[in-house]
Amino acid sequence: MAEFDYLIVGAGLFGAVFAHEAGKAGKKCLVIDRRDHIGGNVYTEETEGINVHKYGAHIFHTNDKRIWDYVNTFAEFNRYTNSPVARYKEELYNLPFNMNTFHALWGVKTPKEAELKIEEQKRDAVEQMRAEGVAEPRNLREQALTLVGKDIYEKLIEGYTEKQWGKRASELPAFIIKRLPVRFTYDNNYFNDKYQGIPEGGYTGMIEKMLKGCEIRLSTDYFKERKSYDNVSNRIVFTGMIDEFYGHRFGYLEYRSLRFETETLDMYNYQGNAVVNYTEYEVPYTRIIEHKHFEFGTQEKTVITREYPAEWKWGDEPYYPMNDEKNNALYSKYRELAEEEDRVIFGGRLGEYKYYDMHQVVARALEIADKELN
Ligand code: FAD
Ligand code: UDP
Repeated sequence: MAEFDYLIVGAGLFGAVFAHEAGKAGKKCLVIDRRDHIGGNVYTEETEGINVHKYGAHIFHTNDKRIWDYVNTFAEFNRYTNSPVARYKEELYNLPFNMNTFHALWGVKTPKEAELKIEEQKRDAVEQMRAEGVAEPRNLREQALTLVGKDIYEKLIEGYTEKQWGKRASELPAFIIKRLPVRFTYDNNYFNDKYQGIPEGGYTGMIEKMLKGCEIRLSTDYFKERKSYDNVSNRIVFTGMIDEFYGHRFGYLEYRSLRFETETLDMYNYQGNAVVNYTEYEVPYTRIIEHKHFEFGTQEKTVITREYPAEWKWGDEPYYPMNDEKNNALYSKYRELAEEEDRVIFGGRLGEYKYYDMHQVVARALEIADKELN
């Protein structure tokens, strides 16, 4: 008889939701994480009375009432609405692309005027491509130009995207942006989902509640003591990198990494908004986050974080799976091995090599837990 029913590798959102469900079903769980804290990438930590999102801005949003009700049993969510501002050189624009953006770009005031302007911009882009002998968009640059035209593309998309992915837009596949939503209302809400907010007091408290009743071991790497951890439980839930689990036998999956630079400033309000995107290529970071605004903070000081996209190499934090065709094909080989496992379940952003948002991780963990436990 093993000591635990489940060993859960990774105390992130996936691991925590699964652990909670298993606990409810009377199972005994051991949760380990190689980091020195719980929460994975949603981890928040208090500085100067402000909950700092240590791994970048995290805004919970979902259309699914069941998921919203579920997370609300662990935390009270505030009414924060994400409305990022984009800064291009000395100009400021509202995101997502909406009437405020169009007014600032072209001085148009009505939806009709804005629609005509966008149509004109798209037509010019298509004509230029035809003149160059291009029939269908072959890359992200051409795709974006035909969807929104030159002004929006050059000021708000090109530089940001090239920094984020470390490649020229003309070298990125078109399928990355099938759609670029434009909205003909004066509405700066970034998400279309019905429910949105930030857990009051930060995400760490929410994860702590999910993990209540489990044994937790931090700064503990599964791979460093694999043999002993393989014997500690009947079953394993693995939320780390699936290619690492299999010793990279088919090759390394690729990720995109980030570097965060956080500063406490002796001022009340630095940028007047939680998220400001820097869309020009020459500024090396993609965004600055001012954490207090996620919770309408009134503290005397403020904490800001600059987010720099970075090349990923083995040993760096794998923030974004690169879900292009090459990597997805490699992942499916690992997936085939995973399907053969009789006591290991793979889940989450790294375990399933999929760029899940938080609501999707919660939904997936509930689905897997339900299958597993019932
Ligand atoms: P993780 O949080 O990565 O947890 C996995 C855990 O496993 C980690 O703690 C890791 O240390 C641990 N681990 C890995 N290998 C081992 C090992 N060998 N031994 C022990 N432990 C191990 N989503 C939204 O919905 N809204 C947002 O606004 C949003 N913004 C984001 C911004 C950024 C910059 C990033 C990177 C992500 C954002 N997300 C957002 C996505 C969100 O972070 C993820 O959906 C979620 O955190 C995934 O949870 P997870 O448990 O799958 O993975
Ligand atoms: N994007 C952009 N300009 C912006 C913000 C986003 O062109 O000001 C593009 C960019 O290609 C980016 C994608 O939209 O990779 C998704 O960005 P978002 O901030 O929505 O997602 P996140 O990086 O937080 O997952």
